[in-house]
Amino acid sequence: MIIAIDGPSGAGKSTLGKMLAKEFGLLYLDTGAMYRASALAVLRAGVPLEDREKVAEIAAKAKIELVGEPDSMRVLLDGVDVSAEIRTPDVATAASVVSTISDVRKIMVDHQRAIGESAENGCVLEGRDIGSVVFPNADIKFFLTAKPEARARRRFAEDQAKGRSTSYEATLAEINKRDERDVSRADSPLTIPQNATVIDTSELELKDVFELMADQVRKLSQSSTAV
Ligand code: C5P
Repeated sequence: MIIAIDGPSGAGKSTLGKMLAKEFGLLYLDTGAMYRASALAVLRAGVPLEDREKVAEIAAKAKIELVGEPDSMRVLLDGVDVSAEIRTPDVATAASVVSTISDVRKIMVDHQRAIGESAENGCVLEGRDIGSVVFPNADIKFFLTAKPEARARRRFAEDQAKGRSTSYEATLAEINKRDERDVSRADSPLTIPQNATVIDTSELELKDVFELMADQVRKLSQSSTAV
């Protein structure tokens, strides 16, 4: 079973994706973490983000692995744990730029498909292009969204809990800039995939959103075992 979760940053994709993966024993794949890891490789190499050819070369060479359970998932870049480094605002911005490069996207999409297809019990993938490009035939597609202010508030609270120094205003500005880049890029822009269930999480409790999503997965599992 392939479950695709797309949507802008801070809409709850990671939290809900992990919850679904745990509930139904599926693999969880945070595709944003892969773009972040390739962006970190580019920053470390000192290559300017505008040098699209070099950036793609580095992304092709970088060995990116996601290991562990959904709640304690670690991201390895060339065998070294970079789970913390990829969460900085600089890497988030770099990932957002790097992800506009088609050659980079091609590498990531191939990698994501291979991981999803080889997952024994199925996979929950979250990102921006999962239901539209990576797995257009996914069994279930969700598009999670929320008002920018709600998303920035959540991201800011997360950052504070993790001891990262930032402000609500800076978080909101960063989210808006990244969203704008994601929806306006030529290759695989953020869009609501065909047949996706759209959920606006602005005013909803996490557990209610989870129930809405889990219900669809249960229904599908029941109908496929009934056949
Ligand atoms: O989801 P996250 O915020 O970690 O993703 C980092 C960046 O990677 C996003 O801002 C987006 O530009 C890019 N991304 C993408 N396609 C995906 C996942 C992430 O373009 N499937």
